[in-house]
Amino acid sequence: MTFEDFNLNRQLLNAVSEAGYEQPTDIQEQAIPLILAGHDVLGIAQTGTGKTAAYVLPILYKVKYAQGSAPRALILAPTRELVMQIGDAIEQLGQYTDLRTLCLYGGLGPKTQIEALTAGVDILVSTPGRFMDLYLRGDIITKELKVMVLDEADKMMDMGFMPQIRRILEIIPRKRQNLLFSATFPEKVEKFSFEFLEFPTRIEV
Ligand code: AMP
Repeated sequence: MTFEDFNLNRQLLNAVSEAGYEQPTDIQEQAIPLILAGHDVLGIAQTGTGKTAAYVLPILYKVKYAQGSAPRALILAPTRELVMQIGDAIEQLGQYTDLRTLCLYGGLGPKTQIEALTAGVDILVSTPGRFMDLYLRGDIITKELKVMVLDEADKMMDMGFMPQIRRILEIIPRKRQNLLFSATFPEKVEKFSFEFLEFPTRIEV
């Protein structure tokens, strides 16, 4: 199988080959068609499997064709480092699109983040805490969100982010596509996945 076999567009395929990806990884082969088709996906995959590109590529495709003025995709991750890594992957794979991505995390004053939000953002990558802070300040419009990703869900639970994530789920549109990625799949993640995902397809690599 090659990346050309997916229903992606030329801009994305060019970025993929520029990134040096010759062949889709296992998780990419399974997840990309499912996400493009609109399914909720439960992906049990560790770092190093190519899980980031597995959701970033179909999200870039979908957001591109879901015109809007407010963010259409929200990716939540437990740490600033992971948020920045995901942001880098989006910048790289989305380099030939005109989509705007913003990374939100604590530790810095929110001024530049708020300015970027005001200028317009298509894809948001955030830690749960900073997302909620800026939402409560009125700086984030959630009504156009269509895809939500929880990356490293097991780690987010271990770090105590669950109450914040539940609050975030209450303030975003109910009708949306949900993707959950976790390196491990303990019972608490399984239980939460029943709340968060609707008829998910499970992929384990
Ligand atoms: P991840 O598991 O998402 O943290 O990705 C691990 C590393 O694999 C990253 O440096 C990616 O750039 C790289 N990668 C992702 N997909 C592919 C692919 N299909 N071929 C080669 N490298 C890849």
